[in-house]
Amino acid sequence: MTRVFNFSAGPAALPLEVLEQARADIPDWAGMGMSVMELSHRSKAFIEVAESAEADVRSLLTIPDDYAVLFLQGGATLQFALLPLNLAAADQSLDYLVTGSWSDKAAKEAAKLRTVNIAGTGADGNFTDVPARDSWQLNPDAAYFHYCPNETIHGVEFHAPPDVGGQTLIADMSSTILSRPIDVSRFGVIYAGAQKNIGPAGITIMIIRRDLLAGSQTGLPNIMRYAAHAEKDSMLNTPPTFAWYMAGLVFKWLLRQGGLEAMATVNRRKAEALYAAVDGSDFYSNPVNPAYRSWMNVPFTLADPELDKAFLQGADEAGLTNLKGHRSVGGMRASIYNAVPEEAVTALIAYMADFEQRHA
Ligand SMILES: *Cc1c(COP(=O)(O)O)cnc(C)c1O
Repeated sequence: MTRVFNFSAGPAALPLEVLEQARADIPDWAGMGMSVMELSHRSKAFIEVAESAEADVRSLLTIPDDYAVLFLQGGATLQFALLPLNLAAADQSLDYLVTGSWSDKAAKEAAKLRTVNIAGTGADGNFTDVPARDSWQLNPDAAYFHYCPNETIHGVEFHAPPDVGGQTLIADMSSTILSRPIDVSRFGVIYAGAQKNIGPAGITIMIIRRDLLAGSQTGLPNIMRYAAHAEKDSMLNTPPTFAWYMAGLVFKWLLRQGGLEAMATVNRRKAEALYAAVDGSDFYSNPVNPAYRSWMNVPFTLADPELDKAFLQGADEAGLTNLKGHRSVGGMRASIYNAVPEEAVTALIAYMADFEQRHA
């Protein structure tokens, strides 16, 4: 078996221990004589998987009791549409902060459904910075304030939630959830597609304050209504059972690593080492304001873009894969989520130094 170091932005690396556990479980899971995929979602055995995944994510993130945890489908992208539909009346407006491609998409989808006020945008600076807090234009009547704590494509991350006064804060945490401890009580809603830091694609986690659930719009079809999913413990219809089980294995793996404090220590160390390598050379660069550089997605460019192809080819040969930057930004991007080990970052830094020496 040859495992590469996988820097994919998503679907992304999963912990090897988790993959091995899943492989061992597939033919005969927990003495059931079948895999977890072949089991009714209503069975006692699967409900235990579901409940234990919820209990473990609650423990990892210290989620207060007045928050529900939903396991949904449709990715973060479906939530771009369902959040306005559930949490705002037809005549209510919404505040969106735009700091990169994902918050831009979220704002554009919401604008098809409700009146959207762009509270601030980093577009002028090509999303290399967060607009200064005192420049944001908040609408005090907005139903909520939406932002993206970690812009997966631009590598722009908030290291603490912004102060938006009394407004309900909604965060698309798809690419940063579980990378460190957070104070859930600061948020009205946190949501995240699984395929970056949680598990395989196909499941979306939403942490939502229960008073917001209670207020969710009533005219919607049940499948679109958060309150209906909550009433049925996220089993309104058949959930993606295998993805739910895999997320549960990842939560247990995170607990074994020492939880999110321990993950934060390693994640910070990985990011700092990589940024130091980029900043320490004239050959590589990262344009993001250091105060907002992402721990999870590190975009960088080569001084000479003509060398991009050779860089990527050599990286592949060295077992360092999926480093090509998003087409909208160019250059490279190393996604260094929880499951990307420190050795992967060390190997990447060594490769970068070697490549520079050969080509500078
Ligand atoms: C990947 C990503 C999305 C899109 O997720 P889907 O599951 O494909 O809908 C949205 N927001 C952020 C921040 C992402 O990283």
